Amino acid sequence: MDLKAALKQYFKDHGDDIRQRVIDLTVEMCKHKTVNVVSEKLPEHPYLKIRGEEWRVAEIVKRELDKMGIPYEEFARMEGRPNVIGKIGKDANGKRLLMPAHMDIVPAGEGWDTDPYDVIEKDGMLVGRGTLDNKGPLASIMAAVEVLKKTGIDKELNGQLMIAALADEEAEDPDGIDYGIGFLMEEKHIAPTYSIIPDIGENMKAIDIAEKGRTVFKITAIGKQAHGSTPERGINAVYMMAKMVNEIEKLKFDYEVHPVLGHPSLNLGEIHGGAAPNIVPGTCMIYIDIRSVPGMIKAGVIAQLQGCADKVKDGKFEIKVMSWNEPHAISPKNELVDSIQANAKEILGFIPEPIGQGGGTYAKTLNLKGVMAVGWGPGDDNAFHVANEYVEIQQLVDFALLTCLCAVDLLK
Ligand SMILES: [Zn+2]
Repeated sequence: MDLKAALKQYFKDHGDDIRQRVIDLTVEMCKHKTVNVVSEKLPEHPYLKIRGEEWRVAEIVKRELDKMGIPYEEFARMEGRPNVIGKIGKDANGKRLLMPAHMDIVPAGEGWDTDPYDVIEKDGMLVGRGTLDNKGPLASIMAAVEVLKKTGIDKELNGQLMIAALADEEAEDPDGIDYGIGFLMEEKHIAPTYSIIPDIGENMKAIDIAEKGRTVFKITAIGKQAHGSTPERGINAVYMMAKMVNEIEKLKFDYEVHPVLGHPSLNLGEIHGGAAPNIVPGTCMIYIDIRSVPGMIKAGVIAQLQGCADKVKDGKFEIKVMSWNEPHAISPKNELVDSIQANAKEILGFIPEPIGQGGGTYAKTLNLKGVMAVGWGPGDDNAFHVANEYVEIQQLVDFALLTCLCAVDLLK
């Protein structure tokens, strides 16, 4: 029997066990409040000693990989925030498939019908914080390697499958230091060829092959402060900014429409200015979030914003790039997308469609370092970061099988 047929048969024969395994792992991992918030917000979460505390879930992952007899490596930029990478296969043909899921979660927030950390099963769903984002998918890929090991199919792989339980996905401190995927790639602890990131939702119906670049600009209008009773002696920075905002609203970026990402976007998200009614404001600030498409370069965007500022005659403007990351896109036609589509068609009965998105996943970090990476995975995209977060159990089981099938395709 060929390997893929053997895997499908195994899932048929052991479906109930695999389902229970995925449930048990998810429930156990979700008990831990591996909440990741920026340092400034830590006091609001007194149960946390450090951000994330991913070690709590890493202990479970390591314990289970030990039981399965699967070797793993552990890398941490700081104590308590480890990344665990289980490896099977041979690494003989130089092909490596990375399946990363993150162990940190966003806070529970308000509005839950049940205890967010005590996962319940309801109508074929698991409900609780982290069930979808991202501990359920983590349980699913763990179940996948367990099956590959139990069936001995791991020995038939010439390439390597790496399942990764990573830290630090949900929040980033202003210092920009990354304890998860960014750290692993910067330090060259991993060198994947392919990656499938099960963290986009869309119920496996979409493959995220492109993501817009995310950039934040701070623009400051610098006028001249004066007494409120003599406005003619000052330059009112709020008036300046009002004119600038008008120009920004009319701004048309130079770009070409991208086949999956479409158009760039601009959001003016914050405005701050003035100190008191009797003071002519000397400064006024805005923050804008621009999501760029391939072809848009930093210097070009700055020049266009400068062009808006030049139309305002009074005072001067300072334009500062607060963060900039590049858009990325891979071809919708390659062996990775082909494998996902063919396997999904057979197991799920539909062909997932390549899409682009404005948000960012690990795919961006990996792609920009030359890895063929896509987002694809179980769960409903409306269930991320909300109260009563849920994931369908059958999707987690299907995803475990699909992980095995894609590994066979890509690593044989
Ligand atoms: Zn996530």
